[in-house]
Amino acid sequence: MKEPSAEIIIDIDVIRNNIIYLKSLISPKTKFMAILKANAYGHGLNKIAKNIDDIVDGYGLVRIEEAVSVRKFTQKKILLMQGLYNKEDARLAADKNFDSVIHNKDQLFILDNVNIHAWIKVNTGMNRLGFSPEDFLTLYKSRLTQKEFTLMSHLACSDNPADDLNTKQFNSFNDISKSLKETTPKSIGNTGCILNFPQKTFDWVRSGIGLYGGFVGNDTLEPAMTFKSQIIEIKKIKKGDRVGYNGRVIASNNMDIAIVYAGYADGLPQATLDNTKVSINNFSANIFGQISMDLVSIDITNIPNCNIGDWCIFWNKNNSLKSLAIENNLISYELMTRITPRVKVIYINS
Ligand SMILES: *Cc1c(COP(=O)(O)O)cnc(C)c1O
Repeated sequence: MKEPSAEIIIDIDVIRNNIIYLKSLISPKTKFMAILKANAYGHGLNKIAKNIDDIVDGYGLVRIEEAVSVRKFTQKKILLMQGLYNKEDARLAADKNFDSVIHNKDQLFILDNVNIHAWIKVNTGMNRLGFSPEDFLTLYKSRLTQKEFTLMSHLACSDNPADDLNTKQFNSFNDISKSLKETTPKSIGNTGCILNFPQKTFDWVRSGIGLYGGFVGNDTLEPAMTFKSQIIEIKKIKKGDRVGYNGRVIASNNMDIAIVYAGYADGLPQATLDNTKVSINNFSANIFGQISMDLVSIDITNIPNCNIGDWCIFWNKNNSLKSLAIENNLISYELMTRITPRVKVIYINS
């Protein structure tokens, strides 16, 4: 056996299929921006950009160094979604032909740079970033009537269509739009909006989690990432024995447990609960005991022929990402982005 290591396997075809599916839900006139922030939600910025450039219209990023990196692979639009923070970076952005969000007064200096297309962000109800509708209209009258810009906002609960904050946000966005030229491009939709409000996607959607197949209430999208590691030890324990740090779990019967070479230092959440489902040799098995830095213990009592070297899958296409997130009160965004650098990364279909 080679020295074991937790691995993620990233299937580029799955990402491409997710994009094609998401695009099929919206008007062909709506442009599709792939959100690659946070190292493409943990999937590898450059590799993903290189492999989807023919089917997307642009990219959304947060950090300027990520944008510089993606520019090597594309001539398409690149948006800095949290704007620019100093003139030096604005010069670099202009030079690289980046668009930039402006979300507050401190970022208005970006407007002085004629070579940067601005996306003015309004706060329609999420109350995180963006100008209030009133401040936006004042700004519009004083500085934007002669300028080309994109109107932008962000939805707080698009993954829950029943939440009436969605209506409030769409209404506010529409009200603001009425004051602008009809030709002003607009963007409000993230993945949840594509899935739940496909008629309200305006000129640009900005889709992140959907590309990677994180769970936002839709089972057609498939996770592109498999996260797995190998069993390095198998133990028989007796009824009453306790397992792992703090002896958190107590065997209710004689049991077989497998020790798998992955822990919170690989990105498995330390707070993962007992009975969270994983998969070994196509059988479902339960996490049994507190997650250690490098190890996790799994109840394999009901799995026939389980051996050292067999793989334990924490999540893959078959949706254990969804159950892991739901059972532990986590979101798939966090599970994907918390995979640490020591985990081996393998790409397929790239
Ligand atoms: C992250 C982000 C998105 C993408 O959201 P998903 O839910 O991952 O589709 C869109 N817009 C902005 C401004 C973001 O920060």
